[in-house]
Amino acid sequence: MNAPRVGERRGKASALQSLEKRVVACERCPELRAYCAEVARVKKREYRDAEYWGRPVPAFGDPRARLVLVGLAPGAHGSNRTGRPFTGDASGLWLYRALFRAGFANRAESTARGDGLELRDALITAAVRCAPPGNKPTPQQLRNCAPYLDEEFSALATVRVVLGLGAIGTRAAYDALLRGGYVFSERPAFAHGAEAQAVRESDGRKIVLLASYHPSRQNTNTGVLTEPMFDAIFRRAVELIGVTVCP
Ligand code: SF4
Repeated sequence: MNAPRVGERRGKASALQSLEKRVVACERCPELRAYCAEVARVKKREYRDAEYWGRPVPAFGDPRARLVLVGLAPGAHGSNRTGRPFTGDASGLWLYRALFRAGFANRAESTARGDGLELRDALITAAVRCAPPGNKPTPQQLRNCAPYLDEEFSALATVRVVLGLGAIGTRAAYDALLRGGYVFSERPAFAHGAEAQAVRESDGRKIVLLASYHPSRQNTNTGVLTEPMFDAIFRRAVELIGVTVCP
């Protein structure tokens, strides 16, 4: 694939900035907006002095990323508090440590917006951008939020590997790639480490969809997901970025 020209890169970055503003102002799911605002008002005891973000959480990362991670949704007292994906909760501790070890982050900790954390060649987004009760978005909420994922994939000209975190994130990524004109040789089943290559019929562009267990406390505390298992996913992502050749 030819490298995007400077003007094209600026256009893609500004498309993502414009999208970020619309995401933060989104009201498509009134019940989720009310829930997030209520969580932000009541707060958790340990964060009672914090000012919660309480709004939809936009994507975070490098606008020229070749790796895009698709998570589930903000945590009520994690991203819904801090305003940045996977920031301020146990899942984020795992994720950013792994991204740091793999060379995609400049530091291993993610505590708050403005903490100096930067992602290189990676961008994190989600299937749903407002914290849902019980971490369970409804099918309608997933449909409401899906166009934002479509816009991100369209704006990210350099993406080679899409990493789904958990079954819902992986399914959302799969559906978005289908809507974007990508064709899979077969529908991938969800499993840790599963991967499937897709080709866009219009220009032959290739993307690999890679799946991982979600680094939720439920998985990491029970040994369903270990750090070596998570590191192996990022090693594979690095390999795939190197070998996925686009026209
Ligand atoms: S979940 Fe998505 S579509 Fe629904 S209100 Fe939040 S940002 Fe908007």
